[in-house]
Amino acid sequence: MQNFLRISLYVLRYRKLVVLSVVCALIVSAFWALNLSIAFPVVKVLFQNDSLHEFVDTEIATRQTTIAQLSDSLEQVPEADVKRRARLQYLMGEESRHVLLLTRIRNSVLPWVPQDRFDTMAVILGVLLLATVIKGLFIYFQELLVGSIVQLTVNAIRQDCFRAALRLDVQSLSRIGTSSLMSGMTNDIEQMTQAIRVFGVTLVREPLKAGACTVLAFFVNWRLALLSITMVPLLGLVFSFFGKRLRRASHRTMESMARIYECISETFGAARIVIAFSGFRKHRRQFLKANREYYAGSMKIVMLGALSRPISETMGVLGVFAALAPGAYLVLRETDTILGIQLAAEPMSIAELATLYALLAGTLDPVRKLSSVFEQIKRGMAGCERVFGLIDRRTIVPEPASPRMLIPHNSLITFRNISFRYDTPEMEGSARPLALKNVSLDVRFGEVIAVVGGNGSGKSTLLSLLPRFMDPDEGQILIDGVDIREFRTADLRGQIGLVTQETFLFNDTIYENIRYGNPNATAEMIQQAAEKAQASVFIQQLPDGYQTVVGEKGGKLSGGQRQRIALARAIVRNPSILILDEATSAVDSHSEDVIHTVLKDFAVGRTVFIITHSLSSAFLDLVDRIAVLDQGQIRALGTLSELQQNAPATLQMLQPEILHSRAA
Ligand code: ADP
Ligand code: MG
Repeated sequence: MQNFLRISLYVLRYRKLVVLSVVCALIVSAFWALNLSIAFPVVKVLFQNDSLHEFVDTEIATRQTTIAQLSDSLEQVPEADVKRRARLQYLMGEESRHVLLLTRIRNSVLPWVPQDRFDTMAVILGVLLLATVIKGLFIYFQELLVGSIVQLTVNAIRQDCFRAALRLDVQSLSRIGTSSLMSGMTNDIEQMTQAIRVFGVTLVREPLKAGACTVLAFFVNWRLALLSITMVPLLGLVFSFFGKRLRRASHRTMESMARIYECISETFGAARIVIAFSGFRKHRRQFLKANREYYAGSMKIVMLGALSRPISETMGVLGVFAALAPGAYLVLRETDTILGIQLAAEPMSIAELATLYALLAGTLDPVRKLSSVFEQIKRGMAGCERVFGLIDRRTIVPEPASPRMLIPHNSLITFRNISFRYDTPEMEGSARPLALKNVSLDVRFGEVIAVVGGNGSGKSTLLSLLPRFMDPDEGQILIDGVDIREFRTADLRGQIGLVTQETFLFNDTIYENIRYGNPNATAEMIQQAAEKAQASVFIQQLPDGYQTVVGEKGGKLSGGQRQRIALARAIVRNPSILILDEATSAVDSHSEDVIHTVLKDFAVGRTVFIITHSLSSAFLDLVDRIAVLDQGQIRALGTLSELQQNAPATLQMLQPEILHSRAA
């Protein structure tokens, strides 16, 4: 229900279109009921030998007699009996209204209606055809209008979904997973689209059609119409029974669709490895499994849908029978009561019964159509839950309520008593160990500090806290004495440059990839950055120079080239804090040397964190201090010579050969 309201809020942005489409639906349903009521004159003409003229004339005559009788009775009623007088006056009013209407019809419509019975029939059929064409025209308009409303709405929702996902923090995003995001913004939203479309077309039009028929049926014989309506609550029960099961099954199919996406992106994202190791069978099996799950879920939906249709149709027919059987009894036995219960004001005519039947059958068609879209609606609702669930996710790295002005960093970065533990996903029972335990570290402005340690010692985790990819569980990080949670995240990240082992280039030109570091950069600044990163030489040798498109994930460049572009991207940002996370680990030793030379210049006037496991000589020239991390704790901290004096064992553990050769 809540989701329904939320979609309505989106849809209401286009309220003019909505109103127009509802008007179209109203016109369609009016014509639908009108077409069915034509049964009345048809039966009159075909079976009762009445021409319309005679019928109207006798009808007016009988009504006028009734009025005369009523007025006689009224005179006999004493003035004091107000209640009875009012009742009689009301009845007279009703009859006069009918006479007035019939007289109007006789004067304005009947002159056009031929006296001959066949000619009358032809006219009736002509009217029927015309009404159908007009109805068709409005169906067309309605569907066009609804189609555009649906697309506009869904685009807006998709946009919000993307925006919401971009606002999330790194941890939440990795927990949701790219494939889930992808299937959410495509498949789940597509399910929603279908639901909103049938909602706009069928769910607005069909109940109106059924409603129009029911209203007319009540005019023909309200008692019998009421009988047939008793089936409605039963129909409701059937729908709710299937509805719950459909929703559950839909959730499951959407989850398996997410797994299919995951399988595709994982397999082809690592195409080189898959081909090199001939891992085809494993991936085929995975894909087959995901596909089978999807099939099972979809079949469940198909089955529920297939069951719900005939069942609801049967109930509908039963509803019609509930009115028709007693109706037929009244007509065939020429009476107005069954078992002493009055069911008609006067004995029913065949024409009345035929009209009632046509109208009740006219409510059945909408019921049939509704039950056939029911499944789509439920699927869409499940899609909605997933999509809105994503839109509602909140980042666990909140923005400050009243952010501090950020002055470029110029004195001290403090990690104070930091402890951090990665979240445990719901499935896993026990909590993960602390990734960082009581880490404290002061880094002066302008310092180059190396963070070294074994795999999984917490180096990347420590420096992910600085740009607030996540917040520490305990302790705080201060830049120049201010807790970083008091800055706007955009401002904070604005002064940090980050180069990681994986370069994450976008499938765009080199120029744009560098400019990504600073959208305000001029062409000159970009060229300077490339020069500083020692990338300009190879860029100029490329046929398209800066306009070379680098391919997906920068696949058209070598690892070293990619890394230098990533470096240029960080340089053009002109950050006061630079973080290099194993930036040289994946490149050849020549590129590594180049990068160290670049850093030597660029590090001046900035605070630089270098995470590395290779303590090469060029590198050791660069750094001022070394922090050694082990199992989330700082084991040693100081200049190289300090460490060699105070904690030689720790250093030995890291890179025995290099340190030996340097000492020698
Ligand atoms: P390093 O960069 O020093 O190799 P990390 O900081 O990446 O180590 O990891 C520290 C610890 O945290 C490791 O035990 C690792 O398993 C765990 N870890 C790292 N990233 C995640 C993550 N996204 N989710 C859960 N645990 C993680
Ligand atoms: Mg790491």
